[in-house]
Formats: sequence, C-alpha cells, structure tokens
Amino acid sequence: MSEAKPWLRHYPEEVAPTYEYPKINLARLLVDSAHKYPDRPALHFLGKTMRYHEVLDASYRFANVLKELGVCQGDRVSIMLPNCPSAIIAYFGTLMMGGIVVMTNPLYMERELVHQLSDSGAEIIVTLDLLFNRVQKAKAQTLIRHVIVTSIKDYLPFPKNVLYPIKMKKEGAKLDVAYGEGVYAYKKLLRAASAKPICVEVDADTDIALLQYTGGTTGVSKGVMLTHTNLIANTYQTTKWCYKIQVGGERFLGAIPCFHVFGLTVLLNQSMLQAGMLILIPKFDIDLILETINKMKPTIFPGAPTMYIAIINHKRVKEVDISSINVCVSGSAPLPLEVQERFEALTGGKLIEGYGLTETSPVTHANPIWGYRKIGSIGVPLPDTSAKVVDVNTGEELPIGEIGELLIKGPQVMKGYWQRELETAMTIRDGWLYTGDMGRMDEDGFFSIVDRKKDLIIAGGFNIYPREIEEVLFEHPAILEATIVGVPDEYRGETVKAFVVLKPGMTLTEKELELWCRERLAAFKIPRKVEFRDSLPKTMIGKVLRRQLLEEEKKG
Ligand code: AMP
Repeated sequence: MSEAKPWLRHYPEEVAPTYEYPKINLARLLVDSAHKYPDRPALHFLGKTMRYHEVLDASYRFANVLKELGVCQGDRVSIMLPNCPSAIIAYFGTLMMGGIVVMTNPLYMERELVHQLSDSGAEIIVTLDLLFNRVQKAKAQTLIRHVIVTSIKDYLPFPKNVLYPIKMKKEGAKLDVAYGEGVYAYKKLLRAASAKPICVEVDADTDIALLQYTGGTTGVSKGVMLTHTNLIANTYQTTKWCYKIQVGGERFLGAIPCFHVFGLTVLLNQSMLQAGMLILIPKFDIDLILETINKMKPTIFPGAPTMYIAIINHKRVKEVDISSINVCVSGSAPLPLEVQERFEALTGGKLIEGYGLTETSPVTHANPIWGYRKIGSIGVPLPDTSAKVVDVNTGEELPIGEIGELLIKGPQVMKGYWQRELETAMTIRDGWLYTGDMGRMDEDGFFSIVDRKKDLIIAGGFNIYPREIEEVLFEHPAILEATIVGVPDEYRGETVKAFVVLKPGMTLTEKELELWCRERLAAFKIPRKVEFRDSLPKTMIGKVLRRQLLEEEKKG
C-alpha cells in the first residue's frame, strides 16, 4: 500500500518524486559555492560578515591544522560551540580532511560530556573559552589529546542585548585559558596554518560525516552515524521542496542550533548549497531575534514551535518589520494551528510543519509550502522517501486512518548507531527505520503524529495521547504553553497531569480549565491534576523536557 505512494499526487508540479544525489564529500557544498561566488556574504554574526572565499580559506586552514595535529581520515572531532563562525569553519575543515564531526551541545555538563567524548572516541575538541573549565575536567576521563579554544573575545564588542556570555559568566566560567600542553588558541592556529586546498575523496555512501548524539527511542545517548550521502540527500530533498529558493538570494535566520542536525541540514547545508547568507544567532534570545529580523531581513527561518510562539506573543512584534520572512519550516514538535495562522498573518510568509528525527538526517516529511497542505499534519514524505504505519504488536502494515508506528525508508536514513549493533538491528529492520512515533496516514497520503510511543499514557486501560489534550489546551485564549504528562496513580496506573503557562496578564483557575476540557474531551482524558508555572523546561531546540517534569513530579 505504501509503495503506491498516494501522496505523490499532491506534490507541487515543481517537485519531482525522485532525484539524483551527487556522491561527494559534504564539504563540497562550501567549496563549490565559494568557487562560483567567492564574494557573496556567507556568514553574518553579530554585525560582522564573512564572504564565501573567507570561509573557504579558514576551513582549509582548519583542515590543515587537524592534519598537523595528527588527525587522520575517520577520526572523530568534537565541536562544542554555539552558533558562531568558528563552529562552521571547524565543521567544514573536519569534513575536508575526512574527519567525522561530533556535534556536542555546549550546555552539556561534565557527566554528559564524558559520556559523549568517550563513546565517540574523539581525540580532539574545539570549544569556547567560556566552556573551557568544563572541558578540562572531562578531558582526563576521555581520550581527548587536543583542545582548540576559540575566544568569546574574538567577537567583542557584543551588541548590548546578547545575553549569552553574560549568563555563562554567572556560571563561573573563566575567560583565562591555560594555553600550552595540548591547549591551543584557535585564532593563532589558523593564522599560522597553511591555506592549501584540501578536500579528500570519500566513499560517500559508507563514510561517516557526522556522529550525532541522540536519545533515540530507548533514551540512552547514542551516536547516529550519518554518511556524506545521507546529509547531501537530505539537503537536496529539503532544498527541492523549497523550489522557489533563489540561488544566492536567500538569507537564512540561524536561530536553531547547528549542533542539532535540524540546524545543520536546513540551515547550514541548505544555505551553503544555495550560496545564501546564514545569519548566526548564538542563543535563542527573542529580543535579539526580532532585532535581527528587522535589520537583516532574513527570508528563510527554520525553527521549532516554541520559537514561533515566543515571536507572536512578544510585546514588540508589531513594532518591528518581520515581513521579509517567506518560508518557515517548523520541526521537532507539533505546531499548534493557532500559532501557524497568527505567524502567517504577521509575516505574510508561509509557516509549514515538517517532521523528522536525528536518525533521518533529519527531515522525512513536510507539508507542501505553496501547494495543498493540511493543518495539523506533518505533511507528506519528501522525494525518494517511503513511509508506512504498522501495528506495534504484529508489525503488519495498517489500513488508512489507523494508528500505529511510523516507519521510514529513504536515502536520508542513517547507517546505524555507532558501535551499537543490537540497537541498530532493532531500529532498522528490512531497510525500514522504526521511528518510535505513533501516527496515521489519511487517504491523501498525509501523515499525522499522534505521539511518541513512549509518551503514551495508559490510564485505567485507556490509551491517551498527550498531544490531543495539549491541542485543546492551546486553543484556550489564556494559555501560552501546555504540556501533558502521565503521572503514577494508585487506582488508574497513570493519570493525566497538565503543566500550564499562562499568557502575561491572563488568569485561569483549575476549575475553568476543567470545564474547558470537559466540553471538548472524553472524561478519561481530562487532566486530573493541573500545575500552573511561569515557564516549562526546554531543550536548546525548544522541545519541552517531559522527562524533567516527570522527575520533578516524582521528587514532589
Ligand atoms: P530528534 O531526534 O531530537 O530530532 O527528535 C525526533 C523526534 O521529535 C521525533 O521522533 C518526534 O517524536 C519529534 N518530532 C519531530 N517533528 C515533529 C512534529 N512535527 N510533530 C511531532 N513530533 C515531532
């Protein structure tokens, strides 16, 4: 049934069902654009611009530095940086000499860092002076031999409203790094390095470009092996989807982090392929983002729902001009309908929902941007991508409309988990990737996600999908954000609890909320417990940390 691909009839005319993907080193995205358009602005960061030839030159230097430090093809290089030019240069430099990039979240604390660095076997890390203490502590417990430190001072003076360094300072980070003995200053290294062009040939289908850590479906942090072909294919697939893109004419607002594969593919790789300008934002700071939109006039803004929610509810949104934005692809979490409508009304652009996961480089589905789309759906599979829904118990493909686990096949599906054969075999079976997401497909081939398999709440024998209740809460005019979790209950096994953040100046009682839900949901789905909060804990990409809420709940 899935091979019939019912969604193809809803593809816009400009999008083909299949494409050829070049089998090249991923770094060629930069090399080729820099050769064609050397003087075009490539990166913009806090008021400064780097042109394509400058980014290329710096990346070659970085590749040569790695060679001098003894890094060989296939070695892992950890990059622990927020969005900034050195993160991009380290990424391309590593790829150019055939190294494997390990993107490391700069918010990781020592324990998480040790796990990731040891698991990946990285011997070299590129980081920021503000994070140096943490890296030094972790270093002793890993194979790390070389630490390359970029300095926050390189980017001074910061515009007044950039909070990132100030917050880090409060954490007790020191700016004075003890250079020497395996600790090098990034700027000095690059200045002294050869700029000899280097971009090694790779076996694009099998050589790993990126080891991207994720909890996946089992929760243990594992390295997802993404090959050059995986990432190139997904960059092409997503670019073809945005078929109105003008080469060299687009400005990408880099608000999502490039240490997440969503940022890498739809921001960085897409921008490089199209010779666009990538405006890097070091931290999700709403004032800085609004000001940047006003000033830099970005045209493309990939993000997570929480980012769009923050923008439409910001008190200054009417004072700034955000009408330059034409295309926004929202991923990572469900996009509430109200948010989509209000954002589109404000910008005059398109905000569409897409879907994917680290294991798929990451995008597998999206709604057509300028064509037929369905609100509340993740859209249709991208070119060359197959998807189907199967029964979790029998593994049989389910008929249209029935809920089961979503499976994916396509050139963007990972090679496997790094050194975890068992988990790989459990996740990829018969060429299909088991996503761990519960969803359904309708008669037009549009898919919707009902929930994560593991977030399913079973209360008194009823299956409850948190997302359905969250949608109802989001429709309430006083509610800014809401998350539903299942909490232990003696009688029902689990019961539904709502964490709610109200819009500024709004009030709502538990009783009023109950009435609202009662009119819209079956009795067993109504939250038995409600907690009002000022904010919800989130990941850097803007996903609500359900697990943290649950842990807080357990502690009482
Ligand atoms: P990650 O590997 O961190 O990118 O997380 C991938 C997971 O995010 C998926 O397996 C989904 O559970 C969730 N996700 C991504 N996009 C959406 C979406 N549009 N709607 C609902 N869940 C999503």
